[in-house]
Amino acid sequence: MFPAFSGLCGHFLALCLGLSLVLTPIQAYQQLSDDTLRALSRPGDEFDIHNGAVLSPFLQPRVPGTSGHAAVLEHMVKYVQTTLPKWEIAFQNSTSKTPVTGNKDIPFVNLIARRDPPGVPVGDIARLTLVAHYDSKLEPEGFIGAIDSAAPCAMLLHAMRNIDEALTQKWATAEEHGIDMTLEETRGIQIIFLDGEEAFQHWTATDSLYGARSLAESWDSTINPAMSTFKTELASIEMFVLLDLLGSKDPYIQSFYPTTHWAYRNLGDLERRLRAVGQFKSSGADPWFVDTLKTSREVEPLGGLQDDHIPFLVRGVDVVHVIDFTPHKGFPSVWHTIEDDGEHLDMPTVEDWSVLVAGFAAEWMELEGHMPTADAPGRETPPRDQKSRKITRTPDEPKSWRRKPSVSTRRPSFPDTSWRPCFGALRVDND
Ligand SMILES: [Zn+2]
Repeated sequence: MFPAFSGLCGHFLALCLGLSLVLTPIQAYQQLSDDTLRALSRPGDEFDIHNGAVLSPFLQPRVPGTSGHAAVLEHMVKYVQTTLPKWEIAFQNSTSKTPVTGNKDIPFVNLIARRDPPGVPVGDIARLTLVAHYDSKLEPEGFIGAIDSAAPCAMLLHAMRNIDEALTQKWATAEEHGIDMTLEETRGIQIIFLDGEEAFQHWTATDSLYGARSLAESWDSTINPAMSTFKTELASIEMFVLLDLLGSKDPYIQSFYPTTHWAYRNLGDLERRLRAVGQFKSSGADPWFVDTLKTSREVEPLGGLQDDHIPFLVRGVDVVHVIDFTPHKGFPSVWHTIEDDGEHLDMPTVEDWSVLVAGFAAEWMELEGHMPTADAPGRETPPRDQKSRKITRTPDEPKSWRRKPSVSTRRPSFPDTSWRPCFGALRVDND
């Protein structure tokens, strides 16, 4: 190598090294303490299948386009408006013909509720995205779909209430301490209730996933403001965690994707810790997250398991698919039968799931220190020390899972054109 060239290369290498240090993003995941885990609230009466305020309204047929469907949508909207008033609600609407409804356009309404950190430009926010579908299957007549997916929807609502106050406290404390939210607090959270997951007749590429296909396509082409960290609404999804077919006893949850196995393992580890502190009330002794001890290289993507994540997965979104599916046995025995109703739910399992989802969201959003604890409910602590973040990642994990870099310059805020609630096609009374 010529000296002049090597000098230039030296500078170039130094620049690259410096850039890589600046741009190497950090995927943080902060475990909750045992005290905080013990203090997570359980749904209790709210999940009573006959008159519980959260779960029971879901337990009715809710085929798209029917009154039961509209009632369940209204229930979710009212719950968010009254119990999670700081959450922004939006609808994403579409219509489609189906094999059994001829020329009639059936409406599909995805409901999105999200909470973003204050003062952060919308295109710079990475959102933990928790998802379940709220529609039910047309047949058999009277089908309730309790595990599919009434119970997962209720779990999401309860879990968000479990963490909501801590989010408020964390962000308020950060602002009080003058922390630059555009640098430090760029994580938001959203729950998506997808419509039209079920096939109307037989599962095909066009008779299924009506809501998910429409939302993924729409968000893929919804461009964030210029110079945003994330180009599209779709790219703002930090992790897409799909809950489906949950609520039967002894669930068997596999890891399907090597690139998100680290997040799956965090769920499995959280399950273990919740059991250790006595927060799991279901009777089974076997772990639910059966692949926690595997490395990401040992995870084999399972082809053919179609669900709402597919339209997002094929567009490059990171996915954790939390679904009860046992090799050789398949889905829970009540799956797609008239027996998938409230009476066949294993309620301790349903409640455990809700606590686990809440704990996972709290750890993802780094809420330790802001959650109530068994000793001191609602105590306030100074903002967390960056060095105390626990990085849960094993050496075999690829670096590609790491978070996208946050940009260290303030940008002018642009009008938000990407997030516009569309109330036109749906009216929900607010009283
Ligand atoms: Zn189903």
